[in-house]
Amino acid sequence: MDDQHISQNNLNILSAIVFSSEDAIISKLIDGTITTWNPSAEKIFGFSEREAIGKSITLIIPEEFLAEEADIISRIKKGEKIEHYETIRRRKDGSLFPVAISVSPIKNHEDSIIGASKIARDLTEYKTFEENNALLASIVQSSDDAIISKNLNGIITSWNDGAQHIFGYSCSEAIGKHISIIIPSFKLDEEAMIIEKIRKGERLNHIETIRIRKDGQEIPVSITISPVKTANGKIIGASKIARDISERVELEKQKKMVTERLERLNEYKDEFMSMASHELKTPLTVVKANLQILDLVVQTEQEKMFLNRATAQVDKLTELISHLLDVSKIQSGQLELQITSFDVIELYTEVIKNIRITNPDYEIIFNCHPGDIIIKADRYRVEQVINNILINAIKYSPVNKKIEVIIKIEDHQVISGITDCGIGILPEDIEMIFTRFFRASGVASTFAGSGIGLYISSQIVKRHGGKMWVDSEFDKGSSFYFSLPV
Ligand code: ADP
Repeated sequence: MDDQHISQNNLNILSAIVFSSEDAIISKLIDGTITTWNPSAEKIFGFSEREAIGKSITLIIPEEFLAEEADIISRIKKGEKIEHYETIRRRKDGSLFPVAISVSPIKNHEDSIIGASKIARDLTEYKTFEENNALLASIVQSSDDAIISKNLNGIITSWNDGAQHIFGYSCSEAIGKHISIIIPSFKLDEEAMIIEKIRKGERLNHIETIRIRKDGQEIPVSITISPVKTANGKIIGASKIARDISERVELEKQKKMVTERLERLNEYKDEFMSMASHELKTPLTVVKANLQILDLVVQTEQEKMFLNRATAQVDKLTELISHLLDVSKIQSGQLELQITSFDVIELYTEVIKNIRITNPDYEIIFNCHPGDIIIKADRYRVEQVINNILINAIKYSPVNKKIEVIIKIEDHQVISGITDCGIGILPEDIEMIFTRFFRASGVASTFAGSGIGLYISSQIVKRHGGKMWVDSEFDKGSSFYFSLPV
């Protein structure tokens, strides 16, 4: 009675285990008829207990695997056990999936084999994991970057083809060695710092440094280092991705050399320009003085005409040289301002009056703020700016000869706007318009100029704490603005 009680108890426990197992546990007769079917079998194969019991086990075996099943049955008949056999089974929805099965014979009281019990484990996730791992391993192996792992003592534990290519050591030469085989002595401190950060779980991104090849050659690399953790989060080492940046570094070096050379040439040019302008200034002053003396003695109309032509050309040259000298002063930070207080409206009125005299066919409309606007600035330099913009407006408006000048006060700034209806400026030229010697595309063939007026003007405005800008539409006209603090 007691024995019977224990065995009943055991049976209950065993059936509870079968019931709650994660694996499918199935029994079948020797002819393949299914006799038991646990809840996991239903979950894994999709057939309910009612749908499975009494049916042939071929219900879950794909046709191509029937011969294999027959082989399993013949081994079972001989009393053999089949353990962890990986094969393929079919779900109710027809999909095939990997399983690991263990099959054992079931015997009756007379010890004859009457069937088989089968435990099947769904390997789908495990397989995907395994396949993913294989895929990742092949990506790592074939990467052009060096991908290396090391433990916390700095011992190399993995080494891909890229590492072999970049550092020259084969896998067998590198694994088991200390990472210092690729670190130049002057960078060993850096490695200690890296290991320190890795121990704290930090990741280091794109550090540009130097490593050393097997043949002793130093190479610039960009490295990213991340901690390697176990499933429970313990840091056991570091993975390092190193990219050979020799080509980029070489290109940058060359670029720097070219830039430095250009800068030097530019300095020579500036020096030459400054020297040449100074040297030209004196003889020109002498020529001009002599022309003035000549003016007193020439008599005929024809002589006067020649003299005037010569004087006009000398004036042009003098102006150009004076501009070049201004550029040199701006470049060397020596443009000095003579600050005084003056009425900007009065200055405009005077400049416009003079320009109207020399350009009678232009209509210059002056819309000014009522009353005075007193500013503290260099009067001569502000006049130079207004003249430059107005003369440009006239020069670059050969057809529609209407120009409008507006002055207003906004946020403690005097804003001047000079608008013409001339040739306008292409959008791609606008951003360059205030740079030295820049002339818009196509103007050189029609309009004389040197491309320095706007540069000087914008620098003068900047020195006064204001700014200069332009709005323009090609073939429609331009509006040049500048602000000066009141
Ligand atoms: P320059 O007129 O002597 O060439 P600037 O420095 O005064 O030199 O002007 C630079 C360039 O800006 C000019 O060559 C011209 O292409 C363009 N530009 C200046 N003002 C105007 C304007 N009002 N309309 C169209 N283009 C202009």
